[in-house]
Amino acid sequence: MSREIYPKYPPDLSEAQLDYLLTSIKDWSIANGLAVRPVPSFVSKDQDPAGSLAVTAPVTIFPSLFPRSCFEQGLGIQTAYNELYAAIASDEPWLKQIVEELAEVDDFIAELWKVYLTVKEEGIVQDITLGLFRSDYMVHLDPMETDAKPTIKQVEFNTIASSFGGLSSKVSEMHNYLLSTDAYPHESASVIKPSSLERSKSIPLLAAGLAKGHNAYGKPKTENPLCVIFVVQDLERNVFDQRHLEYMLLARQGVRSFRVKFDSVMAHTRLDEKRNLLYTPPHAPKQTWEVSVVYFRAGYAPSDYNGKADWDSRLHIERSSAIKCPSILTHLAGSKKVQQVLATPHSPHLARFLQDKEQAAAVHKTFAPIYPMDTSEAGQEARKLAQDPETATRYVLKPQREGGGNNVYRKAIPEFLKQEPESHWPAHILMEMIEPPALTNSILRNGEVQQGGVIGELGVYGVCLWRLKKDAQGLDQIFENYQAGYLLRTKGDQSEEGGVAAGFGAVDSCCLVDV
Ligand code: ADP
Ligand code: MG
Repeated sequence: MSREIYPKYPPDLSEAQLDYLLTSIKDWSIANGLAVRPVPSFVSKDQDPAGSLAVTAPVTIFPSLFPRSCFEQGLGIQTAYNELYAAIASDEPWLKQIVEELAEVDDFIAELWKVYLTVKEEGIVQDITLGLFRSDYMVHLDPMETDAKPTIKQVEFNTIASSFGGLSSKVSEMHNYLLSTDAYPHESASVIKPSSLERSKSIPLLAAGLAKGHNAYGKPKTENPLCVIFVVQDLERNVFDQRHLEYMLLARQGVRSFRVKFDSVMAHTRLDEKRNLLYTPPHAPKQTWEVSVVYFRAGYAPSDYNGKADWDSRLHIERSSAIKCPSILTHLAGSKKVQQVLATPHSPHLARFLQDKEQAAAVHKTFAPIYPMDTSEAGQEARKLAQDPETATRYVLKPQREGGGNNVYRKAIPEFLKQEPESHWPAHILMEMIEPPALTNSILRNGEVQQGGVIGELGVYGVCLWRLKKDAQGLDQIFENYQAGYLLRTKGDQSEEGGVAAGFGAVDSCCLVDV
């Protein structure tokens, strides 16, 4: 049973109040691009053969309550996390040990590593890397302590395709708009008030990050103008989230960008003899562009790679002199195995990357215990915990995958392990479940309102731009390091997964409370 720490929330609504609120949300969201392309189960292909419809993104009707101290904790340590992951992604010898072990049981990791080695062999021509990161947390209340204070624990750290920076700015704007138009009942004014609603500036801050990368690339090396490319999936429903960054990049930074589908990278880009990446847009082929930054919003999951041609595309980009967001090493640094190695109880590794003791301690506080599932001592302990139906209920088992839908929770773990050959167990990590306090909200999804118990996940964005030492033998210099706004994603407490795009959650913003 989750503990109660919040005031009664959200307020009850009369029919007229609910009607006004929903009309406001439906109109504001479309007018301002808080939208997604509809799922086929909501709008079928027959109803929208041209794929031209857009609908309100799944959103919470009220901004969810969130402890102020936890919010400040999360935003406050983002620059330390940026530095940590920049340092990990620059330390090839350290990563190599982890990755090579993992590659034995995980083909996807093995292929990524192969791409890196191929480029290393030929010589790395771009030593600057851009990270648009997102560190995800949940509020945790220690179930063993009756008067435990809420604190945040990290769910995962994303180093590739960290999504929802576009929609998170929009949803926080919308909740502010709703408050300013009296859409929330006056009885709740002591909780939902301007000073409690936190805006997320992730659109301008992430777009500025892309521009920093673009500027760090320097002058064009060819006679062509410079551009950024967004490498995207073919059927992307979360397209407006990305568009907000593109539009801001042009409007505020004056940087031109193009969307290139992952499977058409080879058709429309080429490398010159110096490995400059050149892009010729099929819609305007008279002008070729030199690519300064490649921003991946695809290529993070095995399902994005349908054979050798797609791996060739990833290699092609990695070989180039464009700044990658992220590089292969940075992508690998974001694997759950790396998170586990840092967060295994008594792990010595954090200090290697964060020399500042205070920063390291603050980061360490946000780790939930994570164990390997290999044959090491910690792994043996984890195997016992995971196979015992009683202790398994405190854990989640995760493979090295991104994008939701892959985890095995609590009492399902022992059964799952019975089906899985033991040789494959090390491809997983075992993580203690984070236990958030009880919270209620309403989610509007596909025109329907669902009210009930919810769980929020805070994502804090970070921008980091750094240079490697030769052959990735360490971090040479950090040029940019800042916190870049936040995301709150909220899901029903009956669904263990949290991906909004996967259909399990909603975008939300924080209504801060002192608890
Ligand atoms: P993915 O790469 O699929 O996003 P995550 O590690 O973020 O993987 O896990 C997916 C979801 O599972 C999270 O959004 C969260 O809702 C839930 N989850 C993951 N780890 C934990 C945990 N330790 N405690 C509670 N819930 C978790
Ligand atoms: Mg996640």
